Amino acid sequence: MRRIRPVVTRALQCLIVLILFTGCPGQAPSRSEFVLGTVCSVNLYEGGSQKVYQTIFDRLREIENLMSASLEDSDIGRVNNAAGIEAVAVHPDTITVLKRAIYFAELSGGAFDPTVGPLVKLWGIGTDAERIPREEEIAAVLPLINWRDIGIDEDACTVFLTQPGMRLDLGAIAKGYAADEAARIIKAAHIKRALIDLGGNILVLGAKRDGTPWRVGIQNPAEGRGAYFGIAEAADKTLVTSGVYERFFESGGKRYHHILSPRDGYPVDRGLLSVTIIGDSSIDADALSTSLFALGYEAGSVLAESLANTEAIFVFTDLSVRGTSGAFGNFTITDDSFSIHADAY
Ligand code: ADP
Ligand code: MG
Repeated sequence: MRRIRPVVTRALQCLIVLILFTGCPGQAPSRSEFVLGTVCSVNLYEGGSQKVYQTIFDRLREIENLMSASLEDSDIGRVNNAAGIEAVAVHPDTITVLKRAIYFAELSGGAFDPTVGPLVKLWGIGTDAERIPREEEIAAVLPLINWRDIGIDEDACTVFLTQPGMRLDLGAIAKGYAADEAARIIKAAHIKRALIDLGGNILVLGAKRDGTPWRVGIQNPAEGRGAYFGIAEAADKTLVTSGVYERFFESGGKRYHHILSPRDGYPVDRGLLSVTIIGDSSIDADALSTSLFALGYEAGSVLAESLANTEAIFVFTDLSVRGTSGAFGNFTITDDSFSIHADAY
């Protein structure tokens, strides 16, 4: 089995954006740390101080300590360990993110499901334990995946997983929440222009000094090497990509990636390499990029069109590209191997 180290991929991915951002005069030094399971970079332009950077990265670490499924003593770890036994008191932030995850679970008809944890653990993709599970192992965990079995008591601030063996996993949404939190801190410090890149989960605040939008590279999902296949012009926007290039292993010439179908228990295969969401809220864009990747183009584009201020860019395995009605307004393909799908107009 060939395993691509996600950390390396992520670090390269961060470079994409940073490369495009170089050459901005008056740029304060950026700061990068490994947190939330990935390389997170923040670049504050004009007025950034070490104090603000520290507040941001402390907050990112706090979110990781609450919401990581791999930490036993995080809120999510404790809720998982008490599945089928008892309700667990959690931080209000955990309830906020969980409620949003449940909202997208319902909206996506269960293609996105924060109770996907038992499957994530079984496949172990991106960990030393990654493997193709036996069919009966998959069949055994599928009944545990159902967001309707999450009990939230907002007054008591508790979460209860009603079935033993259930496991929450907020890996598809927590980085988006963290990006929104970083943006909130930056705005409160009266910094008007900034770049937040949490392992490819990007949020740009303001525009360039001359008033023109930032130019943000969109991950080339066929390369997985930090190359970008197009550029989006964006100001005060978030750009989030989900795809097959992030965490995967290969066996018998087949790629097994990390977005899993709660319906059949296998990595989702809908002929897509990636989905990029361009929107206003990073928690929503993060949940949506995973949701649309899991739903596929037909249902995913219908869902995206129904949402305000939300554009989606779908990359298919043949490197053709489709987008929602406003997607190509501020997005240009720069790599010749990609082309706009013939039916996309
Ligand atoms: P990344 O976090 O790598 O940027 P995503 O936002 O698409 O990518 O999240 C993928 C992660 O979400 C997986 O690693 C896993 O933890 C979790 N996950 C996998 N399948 C699903 C699913 N169907 N619904 C919700 N979360 C999922
Ligand atoms: Mg996501």
